[in-house]
Amino acid sequence: MMKSKKWKIVRLKNPKLIKIRANLRKLLAAAIHAEIKRLGKNSINSQRKNTALSKKKNELLYAWGKSLLKCSYGPCMTFKKKQTDTLNEDMVWNPLQKHWICINCYNHHFKTDKQKEFLRKVVEKTASENKAYEEWFAKNS
Ligand SMILES: [Zn+2]
Repeated sequence: MMKSKKWKIVRLKNPKLIKIRANLRKLLAAAIHAEIKRLGKNSINSQRKNTALSKKKNELLYAWGKSLLKCSYGPCMTFKKKQTDTLNEDMVWNPLQKHWICINCYNHHFKTDKQKEFLRKVVEKTASENKAYEEWFAKNS
């Protein structure tokens, strides 16, 4: 998993490389979806095995959600503008929310320093509110 604390744009300009990247992403996405489907179908008469399969499926779904195969911003600007997924798009690492977003969401929501600063404040406020809630919950439970 990506850990960089800086915004990183993974940009390709060569059309052949863009096509190869899109095909690799499609292949990976198809493999992940097939595995998720397979794990979902398996129903064994063992509660312990079903729980393990369910856990594997959730881990895969989580990894999929965090991967650069998918834009983590919703509603995604690529889908909004082009009605497609982001397999052909350049992706950007968002260090504040620790996930990948597509270049179109980046350009729309986070391109300027002012936009990045606004997000940083929102993320900090949310973290501080979560911490306060957890402290309150620990005291009152
Ligand atoms: Zn997007």
